[in-house]
Amino acid sequence: MAESTEPVAAQHRAEEATIQTAYSAFIHHTQTCAQCRTEGMDCAVAGELRQAYRAAKEHARDVR
Ligand SMILES: [Zn+2]
Repeated sequence: MAESTEPVAAQHRAEEATIQTAYSAFIHHTQTCAQCRTEGMDCAVAGELRQAYRAAKEHARDVR
């Protein structure tokens, strides 16, 4: 297909957006969560957000 690079580029942008959104959610949580701030480690919610961020990165790597 002659147009094959366009969907790939769009896919990459979508993956980057997913990663950025997951990362922002994690950072935002750690900055606003009292437990994360006072204990200096991930609470259950932060752990899930971190996993989502990692999963998004892993998925993006697989696609590339
Ligand atoms: Zn937290």
